[in-house]
Parts: sequence; C-alpha cells; structure tokens
Amino acid sequence: MSAGFPPLRHELQGIEPYGAPQLSREQAPVQLNVNENPYGPSPEAAADIARAVGEAAVSLNRYPDREFVELRTALAAYIDTSGGSGTTPEMVWAANGSNEVMLQLLQAFGGPGRVALSFAPTYSMYPEYARDTMTEWVAGHRAEDFSLDLDTARELVLERRPSVVLLPSPNNPTGTALPPEAVTMLCEAAASYEPGGLVVVDEAYGEFRRAGTPSALELLPRHRNLVVTRTMSKAFALAGARLGYLAADPAICDAIRVVRLPYHLSAVTQATALAALRHAPELLGRVDDLRAERDATVAWLREQGFEVADSDANFVLFGRFADRHAVWQGLVDRGVLIRETGPDGWLRVSVGTPDEMAAFRQALVDTVPQTS
Ligand code: PMP
Repeated sequence: MSAGFPPLRHELQGIEPYGAPQLSREQAPVQLNVNENPYGPSPEAAADIARAVGEAAVSLNRYPDREFVELRTALAAYIDTSGGSGTTPEMVWAANGSNEVMLQLLQAFGGPGRVALSFAPTYSMYPEYARDTMTEWVAGHRAEDFSLDLDTARELVLERRPSVVLLPSPNNPTGTALPPEAVTMLCEAAASYEPGGLVVVDEAYGEFRRAGTPSALELLPRHRNLVVTRTMSKAFALAGARLGYLAADPAICDAIRVVRLPYHLSAVTQATALAALRHAPELLGRVDDLRAERDATVAWLREQGFEVADSDANFVLFGRFADRHAVWQGLVDRGVLIRETGPDGWLRVSVGTPDEMAAFRQALVDTVPQTS
C-alpha cells in the first residue's frame, strides 16, 4: 500500500470511526453504555412485528414506498398524542435513526460557507455531521451545571448567524433539559437575520423528562424555523430497527426530500416501525419505571459523595475521577460496561433494570476505593 492510499479527504485522515466500545455479553453481561431501553418488546409485539415483516417479504423484489406515506401518517398520529397536537403527515419526516435525520438536515441546510452551532459538552456526533457536510462547526459553552446561559447563547447565535442550531433536550451526555423559553429565545434569534437559521431541538430522550418541562413539539405552531427530532431507539425500545423522525414546517420536510437517497427507508424498516407504533403504549410502558430508577441512581450516587448532573434522560453523568479510565476499566473487569464520555473526569451510566443497576452499584463500590 503506497503512502497516501486510499486518497481519503484530508480532514478525515487519522480519524477513528465514532462508536462506543462494543463488548460481547460474555465479556460484559451488564451493558449500560449506549442508553438503550433494557426492556425488549413483549412476545406479542415481537410476533406482530415478525408478521408485518413477513408480509413485506413477499414483495421485496419491489422498491418500498419512497414517500413512506403510511408511516408518516402513523407517526403524525403518534406525535399528535405526545405533545405535538395538530401534526399532519406533511410535517413529518423519518430516516434510519435520528442520526440520519440530522445528517440530512445538515445536507440540506448546512454546507460550505454555512455554520452549524451547539453548546458543549454535547452529543459528539454533531461535529461529525458538520464535518461530513463541509459545514463550519461552532461550539459555544454550557455553564458549570451544564445549563445554557440564555443571554450568552443568544449573543453567539446573533454573532455567528448559524444555518442550523443543534439543541439536544435532554442533552447527551449531561442529561440537561432545556426550558421552553430557551427554545423560544433561540428560535427568535435565528429568525432575525437573513436567510435565517433552523433550530433543531433533538429530543432523542424527550420522553424521559421529569415533570414540568414540556416538549418543544408544543412550540411548533409558534416558530416556523423550529424542528423537533425524535427517535424510536430509546424510550420506544426499538434501537435495532433504526427509525428516527422529525416534526417541522412542511416546507422543511419537502426540502429534505431533495437530499435523501431514493428509497432510504426499506420496506422492512417501514413495516417494523408501523407494527411497533401499533404497540406504542406497551413499548413505552417502562418509561416511568426507568425514570424512577434514574432518580434512585442519582440519589444513590450523591449519597456516595459523587458529583452528579441533574438528569432528565435515561442516563446519569457522574464524577469526578482523577483517572476515569481506571474506574471504567474496573467496572468492565466486574462485568459492567458504562461509557467513558463527557468532560474529563466524568463517566456516564445508562439506566438499566433494577438488577443491572444493583450490579453497577456493587461494581462501583468495589472499584472506587482501589482507584482513588
Ligand atoms: N441524539 C442524541 C442526543 C443521541 O444521544 C443519540 C443516540 N446516542 C441520537 C440522537 C441518535 O440516535 P438514533 O440514531 O438511534 O435515533
């Protein structure tokens, strides 16, 4: 192989592909590292999904419905009942995970000469969408408690005039939810310059919010430049199916159609998602249990004397460790896989079943005296 082969784009050279370490169940029986829902579908839901996929299988010689009308209609009905009242199928777009939805947003609305902006620490895929679409990446900062200082955030938007502002709520990896006034203020700021910017509120973990913070879906009728992205990967317990979606002005959905690949949602994906939506109450049925387990985990970690970020998500960021890698490794050695991510010194644990959380607590107690 000659030097310089393959002829990779300069800015991609030497870069590791994004992704948490994937260990087998034998290596780490307790997997609390990628914010999955630990509860799989019931046998009835799984059978219904299998039946739907079986029906799709007999016509796999044909391309699927490119506009996925049936799925958009079912998603609109679901969004309508979960905070986004008045959502129509024309206001819905979907792709293979909300990662793909956001990449498509940057493909359509970012690009050379344009800016995408967020506030660190935040989801580490955002700068990758920017890089892959040749969009300039600008990261402002969060306060010590990981909240947004609204005046500073607004000033940065007015100064840098981004085409896309990415606002996760709750934020990953900190778990911090955004108050509605933050969304309103930044939507107004991004509408105040020409040609204006989109404000994308990434609600991948939206269903886990604590009481009192409404979904940004409720603000859609008031802001034409607001986009709310969601996923079936987390609360919906369907990470393996790869289905993310957004709700926004129909003109935004229409624009994304220009950049999407034809037939990007396979017939199998569409059938799976439609069947899962028919089981929505059941698949979402464990959200309250997971929120309670999350709150108990936060309380326990604080009792142990750790610093813990308030969490509205299905994970908890805690620290601080002089050598977080040693703590992470100590947990892995005891069969518990968590995530080494976020600001230096912090670790993130996803909320699992009560048994999994008991294993996490035990492993942490056993590990920490040996590493501090
Ligand atoms: N947004 C945030 C904040 C996330 O943490 C994730 C997954 N880790 C995603 C979006 C993407 O999830 P998916 O592609 O499975 O919908």
